[in-house]
Amino acid sequence: MLYIGNHTTSSKGYAAMARQMIANGGNTFAFFTRNPRGGKAKAIDPKDIEAYHQLASDHHFGKIVAHAPYTLNACAAKENLRVFARETMADDLARMEMIPGNYYNFHPGSHVGQGTEMGIQKIAEILNDVLTDTQSTTVLLETMSGKGSEVGATFEEIRAVIDLVDRKEKLGVCLDTCHVWDGGYDIVNDMDGVLAEFDRVIGLSNLKAIHLNDSLNGLGSHKDRHAKIGEGQIGLEALVNVIRHPMLQGIPFILETPNDDEGWTREITLLREKYAE
Ligand code: FE
Ligand code: FE
Ligand code: ZN
Repeated sequence: MLYIGNHTTSSKGYAAMARQMIANGGNTFAFFTRNPRGGKAKAIDPKDIEAYHQLASDHHFGKIVAHAPYTLNACAAKENLRVFARETMADDLARMEMIPGNYYNFHPGSHVGQGTEMGIQKIAEILNDVLTDTQSTTVLLETMSGKGSEVGATFEEIRAVIDLVDRKEKLGVCLDTCHVWDGGYDIVNDMDGVLAEFDRVIGLSNLKAIHLNDSLNGLGSHKDRHAKIGEGQIGLEALVNVIRHPMLQGIPFILETPNDDEGWTREITLLREKYAE
């Protein structure tokens, strides 16, 4: 089963997001847990949750992938920003229990001059503060492009964070194809090698979701500019290899391409055709 969808721009609740995704041909999706620049989350309506669960089950949805606001920086230098990161994450994880058993993805953070080591420690510290034994959500560290002072542009940095977290069973990784390509992992010419490296450093069982994006820039460019599928330097063929890869079956593929619903519908249709070939 191919689970594919896009990061939805709909913000009218879970059922509305599911309906939009069904219209786009998807059976999973990503969404921001709140305004991407932070702020308060909307109250959750139990009727909306019920309608969502019905739609998801009728249409055989896979796990969905919530995305933390991208202003959340667990390794910020300023303490007030870390308080925001801690409180936002804890609140998001509590709310995620309304849709149990799904994924919550976040950008590990930017160390803003404190150094990668300090960044890794601070990220792990926040994860140790917010993860609980009773949560049903798996928290995913996203692989980053290495733009600015981002932590998590190498598999080793992701591994180093996981090593410092107590509740490792609550953690996983979301691999962003644009980010790893920009980070210097050649998924075009050596996808098998990149996955072997991921397995050696992090363990493939920790790979829970894929952000499927093309990249405007070249291998190792550390830019993080997403392109539409087949319109960037990764190209359609390599991205089809990703969704068809035997080691990656059953996990959600999320498009974060610069599109509207019409564009995502075209991409999902094309990728489903290529997957079935
Ligand atoms: Fe992201
Ligand atoms: Fe991403
Ligand atoms: Zn990105």
